[in-house]
Amino acid sequence: MTSKKIVLKFPKQLGDKPVIYKLVKDYNLEFNILKAVIMPDEEGLLVMELKGTADNYKNGIKYLESLGILIQPLSKDVTRDEEKCTHCGACVTICPTFAFIVDKKSTPARKIVFDDKKCIACELCIPACPLQAMELHF
Ligand code: SF4
Ligand code: SF4
Repeated sequence: MTSKKIVLKFPKQLGDKPVIYKLVKDYNLEFNILKAVIMPDEEGLLVMELKGTADNYKNGIKYLESLGILIQPLSKDVTRDEEKCTHCGACVTICPTFAFIVDKKSTPARKIVFDDKKCIACELCIPACPLQAMELHF
C-alpha cells in the first residue's frame, strides 16, 4: 500500500472536470483532501493524501500528469529569510492559504507575518517576492 501527501496544481481548463472521481473509480484510490483552492477560469491547487496499491498509485499519478497537472510531494519546506524581507506585501495576495498576514498593529510600519503552519509549499510566493526572501528547501 502506498500513501502520500501531494500538492496538485491544475491548469485552468481542468477546474470543473471530475478528475478526483476518476482516481477513485478507475484507479481504486482513496483520497483525503487537506486543502483546495479551485476557482472557475483560474488555476487550481489541491493538497491531498492519496492512498492505494503501489500500481494503482503509480497509474493514478500518470493519469494526473497526462492531464497536465503538476504534482509535487508535500515534504518540501518553505521558509522566509527575515533579514531580506522588507515587508513590502507583494506576497500577501498571492498565497492561496493566507499564510501571510498583515499585522496592522506593528510599529513603526505594518509588518507581514509569515505563518509557516499554513504553508503548503505551493511555491507561488517564491518568484513573487522581489527580494528573494522566500526560500524552498528539499
Ligand atoms: S514579497 Fe518578500 S519582501 Fe515582500 S513581504 Fe513578502 S516575503 Fe517580504
Ligand atoms: S509557498 Fe508561499 S504562496 Fe505557497 S502556501 Fe507557502 S507561503 Fe503561501
